[in-house]
Amino acid sequence: MKSFFTFLFLGIIVCSHAQSVKKLHYKAILIDTHNDVLSSSVLEGKDISHRLTTGHSDLDRWKEGGLDVQFFSVWTDKSPRNKEGFFKDANQEIDSLEILILRNPTRMTLATNYKQVKKGIKQKKLVALIGVEGGHMIEGDIAKLDSLYKRGMRYMTLTWNNSTSWATSAMDETEHADSLKHKGLTDFGKQIVRRMNELGVIVDLSHVGEKTFYDAIATTSKPVMLSHSSVWNICPVFRNVKDDQIRAVAKNGGVIDINFYSGFIDSTFAKKMAVLEGTEGKRIKDSLGLGYDQAKLNQVWNKYFHDQLEPYRPTISKLVDHIDYIVKLVGDDYVGIGSDFDGVSSLPAGLDDVTKYPLITEELKRRGYSNKSIRKILGGNVLRVMKANFKN
Ligand SMILES: [Zn+2]
Repeated sequence: MKSFFTFLFLGIIVCSHAQSVKKLHYKAILIDTHNDVLSSSVLEGKDISHRLTTGHSDLDRWKEGGLDVQFFSVWTDKSPRNKEGFFKDANQEIDSLEILILRNPTRMTLATNYKQVKKGIKQKKLVALIGVEGGHMIEGDIAKLDSLYKRGMRYMTLTWNNSTSWATSAMDETEHADSLKHKGLTDFGKQIVRRMNELGVIVDLSHVGEKTFYDAIATTSKPVMLSHSSVWNICPVFRNVKDDQIRAVAKNGGVIDINFYSGFIDSTFAKKMAVLEGTEGKRIKDSLGLGYDQAKLNQVWNKYFHDQLEPYRPTISKLVDHIDYIVKLVGDDYVGIGSDFDGVSSLPAGLDDVTKYPLITEELKRRGYSNKSIRKILGGNVLRVMKANFKN
């Protein structure tokens, strides 16, 4: 009988702990600074107003995951989708977000200033902000920067994987250093950073090379954001951030929002993937190629690639290690969430879509983080950076 009561007592404690973590998660303001659902689903005609069985995100699932604010990434590849060019691509993608909001006025709202962000949260709507991914979208023209600002752009990553004529990317600085005409920000690049500061567009340093990173930090008068970047010391891949960069962001008062991509958070996964993309992949593809046409080969290869990597998916704990690392290095004011949902091919095991954000809160709590720290990490730090950048 005694053991029954002990069991019951422990059961009540575990249960009330789970409830208090849940309460903390849903009461906290949760902000995700990077999601690619516009380019991966919405532009292709998928209606994310309804629950989908594919992809990582939709309105129902965001609600379930307790998300309050989403920066929608406006992204296009290094070759434009439209023959008119990158700027047209960006505008078309912003159109698609506007249509989504118009169709869901009670569930979503676009914010272009801090007051609107707070108001939307209070109304329990998903607050949408526009983040443009890649300086190539403005086609080297400050007037186009101004124009995207008028449409609502509130951050811009200075580069994507491709460099522009005025800023070099992490990929180019590390993998194509010999062929670069310049490295870092040019004078025009610095002018763009200053114009972004004037307008109230957050300078996003995810994807940029180290030289561009330090040039931008030295130029900006406002706190920066890295909307979807993880820690190099845990997973040394080309666009994760090194300790000195983390210290520089802290000194600037900015924020680094951790990217969930398996290949950026776990070095074993990253190494296995590099092998599959390299010599081993070539050998297997060559042997497969014997009896297949190209489309079938791609299909068979993609499945093989996915199946090979599946056992290497990192744990959620590994993801939280990145948050923990930044907190231990510089404190709890400079880290946030920048999932890259709907932009990545692999996520930590159990973190399959946007309904799973509470698992991160749970893991932080398990590690002994205070509620105050958790609220900062889930959204408070990003709110501070928004407030410091936005005009009102
Ligand atoms: Zn990206």
